[in-house]
Amino acid sequence: MADDPETFAFQAEIAQLMSLIINTFYSNKEIFLRELISNSSDALDKIRYESLTDPSKLESGKDLKINITQNTDNKTLTIVDTGIGMTKADMINNLGTIAKSGTKSFMEALQAGADISMIGQFGVGFYSAFLVADRVEVTSKHNDDEQYLWESSAGGSFTIKVDDSEPINRGTKVVLYLKEDQAEYIEERRVKEVVKKHSQFIGYPIMLQVEKERDKIVAADKVEEEDDKIDPDASKPKIEDIGPDTVIDESAKETDDHKVIKEKYLDDEELNKQKPIWTRNPDDISHEEYGEFYRSLTNDWEDHLAVKHFSVEGQLEFRAMLYLPRRAAFDAFENRKQKNKIKLYVRRVFIMDNCEELIPDYLNFLNGVVDSEDLPLNISREMLQQNKILKVIRKHLVKKSIELFEELVEDKDQYKKFYDNFSKNIKLAIHEDSTNRKKLAEFLRYNTSHSGDELCSLKDYVSRMKENQNQIYYITGENKEQVANSAFVEKVKKRGFEVIYMTDPIDEYSIMQLKEYEGKQLISVTKEGLELPEDDEEKKKLEEQKQKMENLCKVMKDLLDKRVEKVTVSNRLVSSPCCIVTSQYGWTANMERIMKAQALKETSTMGYMAAKKHMEINPEHSIIETLRQKADADKNDKSVKDLVMLLFETALLSSGFTLEDPAIHGSRIYRMIGLGLGLDDEDVITVPDDMGPLDDLPPLEDDDGTDIGRMEEVD
Ligand code: ADP
Ligand code: MG
Repeated sequence: MADDPETFAFQAEIAQLMSLIINTFYSNKEIFLRELISNSSDALDKIRYESLTDPSKLESGKDLKINITQNTDNKTLTIVDTGIGMTKADMINNLGTIAKSGTKSFMEALQAGADISMIGQFGVGFYSAFLVADRVEVTSKHNDDEQYLWESSAGGSFTIKVDDSEPINRGTKVVLYLKEDQAEYIEERRVKEVVKKHSQFIGYPIMLQVEKERDKIVAADKVEEEDDKIDPDASKPKIEDIGPDTVIDESAKETDDHKVIKEKYLDDEELNKQKPIWTRNPDDISHEEYGEFYRSLTNDWEDHLAVKHFSVEGQLEFRAMLYLPRRAAFDAFENRKQKNKIKLYVRRVFIMDNCEELIPDYLNFLNGVVDSEDLPLNISREMLQQNKILKVIRKHLVKKSIELFEELVEDKDQYKKFYDNFSKNIKLAIHEDSTNRKKLAEFLRYNTSHSGDELCSLKDYVSRMKENQNQIYYITGENKEQVANSAFVEKVKKRGFEVIYMTDPIDEYSIMQLKEYEGKQLISVTKEGLELPEDDEEKKKLEEQKQKMENLCKVMKDLLDKRVEKVTVSNRLVSSPCCIVTSQYGWTANMERIMKAQALKETSTMGYMAAKKHMEINPEHSIIETLRQKADADKNDKSVKDLVMLLFETALLSSGFTLEDPAIHGSRIYRMIGLGLGLDDEDVITVPDDMGPLDDLPPLEDDDGTDIGRMEEVD
C-alpha cells in the first residue's frame, strides 16, 4: 500500500546529534525558529533562481513567502513556505540519512564548549526543531514529485508517506508539536519577538497569523448569539471610535434594530517590513543593526569583525555590503572548492548565492550582498561568465576588500585576529592576483630571526635591513624551531642579517610569485644565488678557498654524478661540513616534501620541478679539509667514495630532504658504527645490492613490538 508509512533509521551521527539536542540542558532554545525560517528562505531562493531561466516553475505559485501559524488547541507551531519543496528522495537524504561533514564537527565543537546556537553554521540547523518539539512533521511538495509527509519523534527513526490530506501547491510545511514546557511559542508576542530578533532581515515576507478585532453591525436580535465574542468590559463603540477595520459603512448608525459589536478574526501580519538594509544610508544604520543583518545572513553566532558598506554610481550602479567574519569557517580549505558567500541581488530581488564571477576565490571568506541596478533579472549562471558588468563589480569588490583590510591594519589586535584566521587567504591572493600583488604584500606577517614571538611585516623587515644588505632573506620549512636551527640560517644570522621564517605550506606558493618587495629581491637561504655582502678581503679568501677545493669539488661531483647539479664552495655554512641547496627556480626541500605529501600530485611535475640539488661544502670544516687531502692524494681512494656518499645523504637529511633509499644510508651508518667500535669491515653487516633492505637483521622492537626498522623504511 502506497499509504503505509515507510520507516527509516537516522544515520548514526545524526541520531547522536539529535539526542544531544534533546538532552543537553540549554536555555536559548528560540534559535530553532531562526533555523527553520532560514531553511525556508533558502528554499525560496532556490525556486526563484530556477524560475529565472524557466518561468514555468512558478506555475505552482508565484507568491514567495513564509507563513507562521500557531494553534493553541493542539499546541503546534507551523512554518509554511512556498519554496522549492522536497521530493521524497530529498526528504530521505536531507532530513536524516545522509550526514554532512558538519554533523560530526558540530558535536566535537559542542564537546569543546561550543553553543547549540552555532548549529546553523555547521549545516544541521533543521534538527534544532527538536529543541522545542517532541514531534515534528514536514509536509513537502516539489514540482517534480507528489506531496510527502515526513514525521519523527526522534528516537532514531523517521517515517515517510504519500500525503493526500490538505494539498500545498509547492513548498514545505513544518509542524512542531511543542513540548509541554515550550508552550510559549504559541504566544503571538513571543514569536514576534523571536522573529524580530533573529530574522528581521530575511528577504521574503514572514507573515504571522494574528488575531485581530473589528466592529461588526449585527441585527439587534442576533447580539445574544454573538455575545460570547464580546468582551463584557468593553463599552460598545460609538461610530467615531470605529477603526479602519470596520465593516460598517460611514452612514451606518446604531439603531434600534442594529447594534455594533466587536468581532475577532484572523489576519496575516508581516513581521519583517523593513526595506533591505543595504539600500539604507550607512549613517542611519547602527552597529547593532549591522550585526543583526550579518548574523541573519551567515547563521554566525558572533558579530562580524568589520564591514564595508558602499555604493558605486555612474556608468554602472550597485550597492554592496562586505562583512569580515571573526573566524574562518570550520571547513575552510578542505579539499573541495569552497563556495563564496556573497548573495547577488538585482534591483532588490534575490538572484543567486555563490556567483563565482562576483569575487575571486581567495576572498571566499567574506560574507555579503551585492545589489545591481544594471543586470537583467532573468540572468543565468551561463550568462554570467561573459558578463562585463560583473567583471566591473568584481574589480570594485576586490578594491573595497583591500581597503577593508587596510583599515584593519590600523588596529593591531583586530588585525592579529584577522591574520590568525585568514593569512592563508592573503597568501593565496598573492599567488593568484598579479594586479593587486604589491598591495597585498603589505598584509603579510611572519616570524623572523629577530622578531621573537611577534609577527612582523615586510616593511618592518626592510626598515631593519643593514646598510650593505640588498636582498631579503627567508627560509621555508615545517615549523619555526626547525628553520631557526637550520644550518642555512647559521651564517646569515651570524653575520647579523635577519631571516624571515616561512612555515606555512602555502608560503612556498605565494613567495614563488611575489619574488620581490620594494625593489628588494626575496632570496631563499636554501637556494643557490644567496649573496651575503662581502668585503674585499672576504672575497679574496673565498677565491683562494675555491681554488684549493677545486679538485675535491670535481671528485665529489664525479662520484655523486646525477644526484647533484654541481658541487661548490659555500659561503653560508659555519659549523656544518656541507649542505644541499636548490636552484633558484626549482622547488625547495620543503616544497618537495609538500608535493610528495599530496596524494593527487601530478607525477609529471615531480620530474621537472623536483628540486635541482647543488651540494655546497664548507671549506673551513675539518671534515672537508681532511677529505680534500685524501682526494688530492688519490682520487680513487675507496674510502673517499664511501665518505662522500655518506656526507651527501646526511646533508640531504639535514637540509630537509627525504632519502630515496634510506636502507642503503642505514647500512653505511652501521658500517661506520662498526669502524667506530674497532670491528673489521667484514664483521659489520652490509647489504648486498641485490638483497632486500636489511632483511637479515633482527628487527629492532620497541615496547609495543612495533618494528622500528621497518617503520623508518616507510618514510
Ligand atoms: P542547511 O540549511 O545548512 O543545509 P539544515 O539542517 O538546516 O542544513 O537543512 C538540511 C536540508 O534540508 C537543507 O539543505 C534542505 O535541502 C532541506 N530543507 C530543510 N528545510 C527545507 C525547506 N523548508 N524547504 C526545502 N528544503 C528544506
Ligand atoms: Mg539550515
